[in-house]
Amino acid sequence: PAQPPVKLETPQQFREFIDQFDTFLFDCDGVLWSGSQQIPHVGEVLNYLRDLGKSLIFVTNNSTASRQSYVPKFEKLGLSVDPSEVFPSSYSAACYISTVLQIPTGSKLFVIGESGITSELTDLGYIVLGGDNEEDRRAWHDEEYDAIVPDGDVKAVVVGLDRHINYAKLARGYHHLQVPGCHFIATNTDATYPSSRKLFPGAGSILAPLELMVGRKAVSCGKPHPAMMDAIEGVRGVDRARTCMVGDRLDTDVKFGVDSGLGGTLAVLTGVVKEEEIVSGRFGVWSKYYAESLGELIKAKQQ
Ligand code: PLP
Ligand code: CA
Repeated sequence: PAQPPVKLETPQQFREFIDQFDTFLFDCDGVLWSGSQQIPHVGEVLNYLRDLGKSLIFVTNNSTASRQSYVPKFEKLGLSVDPSEVFPSSYSAACYISTVLQIPTGSKLFVIGESGITSELTDLGYIVLGGDNEEDRRAWHDEEYDAIVPDGDVKAVVVGLDRHINYAKLARGYHHLQVPGCHFIATNTDATYPSSRKLFPGAGSILAPLELMVGRKAVSCGKPHPAMMDAIEGVRGVDRARTCMVGDRLDTDVKFGVDSGLGGTLAVLTGVVKEEEIVSGRFGVWSKYYAESLGELIKAKQQ
């Protein structure tokens, strides 16, 4: 790296760090909370940043939730949040489609995914085909070979985590991707995600068979892919040079900040990444700053 990662420890360092940025993007698990516990002082730090006039955006690759459905989760952990501050990959995909691809509202989109995606797309005015409803969960019958016909008006196939994925949904997605000009969008490409201290197949594992079928890659609207930053910029109009990404993983969060050309990245040691990995640039990813915890930023108040 041009400069090795700087560890922030003193009130003056924290204050100078904060002053460099207008917007802070936060990963959630491992940064704001760990399991079902708020990381100490995080609530105070978020309010302090808001009082300084900073914009806060909470970014998560979870596509099963909408912005609105994150509000009670924050509240349960003792954190206040406005739905406009939340940016899950479901909303990221919806914003990418509307503001970056500029697919007109009222257009038809075919979805493989759960209610987080379908509600964000319908809120923006799109007509959603597919999604996860009772009828589409039924078992395959040979009549499907005749019944599955793509709708020629579908402008994009959007893929996220669908815990009721089946052969018929994949077949419909595959046929819609043959429609000329149809865009191929993924909420995120995570192979797995953690729940109850175990890993489960993620959106990327639903996406992979479709990419194999059609022989092309989807545009991913989740971390670490810069399309997520394009979507954020499209709706929030941020200045990238004065934006900092805060996360606990180098391969997703910090890489996202670096590849999106943000002014800074802050890795915290309350989640996945270890100090040795930060200072040795594991995965070839170098964070500009790191700190023990996001809660430590409260020290800046003493300055
Ligand atoms: N995908 C799903 C379905 C999840 O539930 C989660 C985290 O809970 C993720 C992806 C990873 O999201 P994050 O970016 O918050 O680590
Ligand atoms: Ca995390």
